[in-house]
Amino acid sequence: MGNIKFGFGTMRLPRLDPEDPQSIDIEQYKKMADVFMDRGFCYFDTAYPYHGERSEEALKEAVVRRFPREKLVIADKMPILRVKATEDYQKYFDTQLKRCGVDYFDIYLLHNLGRDRYINTQKYGGFEFISRLKEKGLVKNIGFSFHDDADTLEYILSEHPEVDVVQLQINYLDWEGAVAQSKRCYNVAMSHGKSVIVMEPVKGGTLAELPPKAMEIFKEYYKDKGQSIPSPASLAVRYAASLEGVQTVLSGMSSLAQLEDNTSYMVDFKPLTEGEKILTDRITEILKSTIKVPCTGCRYCLEVCPKNINIPDYFGLLNLHAVTGKKSNMYYERFSMAHGKAKECIGCGACEYNCPQHIEIREFLEDFAKLYEEEV
Ligand code: SF4
Ligand code: SF4
Repeated sequence: MGNIKFGFGTMRLPRLDPEDPQSIDIEQYKKMADVFMDRGFCYFDTAYPYHGERSEEALKEAVVRRFPREKLVIADKMPILRVKATEDYQKYFDTQLKRCGVDYFDIYLLHNLGRDRYINTQKYGGFEFISRLKEKGLVKNIGFSFHDDADTLEYILSEHPEVDVVQLQINYLDWEGAVAQSKRCYNVAMSHGKSVIVMEPVKGGTLAELPPKAMEIFKEYYKDKGQSIPSPASLAVRYAASLEGVQTVLSGMSSLAQLEDNTSYMVDFKPLTEGEKILTDRITEILKSTIKVPCTGCRYCLEVCPKNINIPDYFGLLNLHAVTGKKSNMYYERFSMAHGKAKECIGCGACEYNCPQHIEIREFLEDFAKLYEEEV
């Protein structure tokens, strides 16, 4: 097996049409997969809803058909939000095997478990279903991806000691945070002896593009040491990978350049030094004072919004404005094409119910509408 310390997340693949999530640029994806595999990596992470349900088929085309199956580690996830009856599990699983062109998954997770979805997962026997898959050899390791608080994680892991892995949101900005509770969740997983897969190590890009003040101290740190300046993303990914018990750090990559950068420092992974840990604390302080909305860009809100409001991209613009003081009407025009405007929100609250970060979306949309839509 290849190196699984770093995994290729396939929820933000390059697109032919930036407005169309289904228009995955397969040729570019193939090039990225080639470099990834060439450098000794092998872990690909997909899920049923990614890219308007096209991510799994794209994986088949760009990866599964082009490399020996035994050289790949493939993780997929049961879309528990869509399961409305026990028999649905089998239907989704069969579809996923077919879409991916495989006859087993190396890692199989219940997708985005939290206290709400746990109720139906228990009711319909989700854990029993994945345990049976493991017994039959159709999946090798089972677990769940998780967005909720540490107490809920403790409860679920106590009730389900059979799981092998948990996928958690861990990054240095959320480490001590009250919402994602990275540190507390990590400690719970460790106390139950579970392997941890990290998602959102750069917090939806926030830690890859630091604001000027944070960038200044970042650059200074490496200059003072006489070292070449790495990418801010590398600090964030290495932060997560440095934690004991972390099996894999995933990064959702959108370009060959990103992939080349990430694989360059993860191929010969070096844990963070004490000085770099202090650097992450200093950057966190600066970021916490500027970011307005703690949105990770997971897009779960968009899946359920009856007005198809482009919430995550609008929040990206709101954060950009909070950090840099600048507006970008060009991006607003693009982001709102084929989407509802923030002011069209009917206040139904479905987005907030589905948001793993528990963001008060409606309130922030009002702020956004004031900023962008009253004068546009
Ligand atoms: S509250 Fe507004 S943004 Fe949220 S789902 Fe309803 S219409 Fe969409
Ligand atoms: S608002 Fe919440 S659900 Fe929507 S993209 Fe951001 S973090 Fe995800």
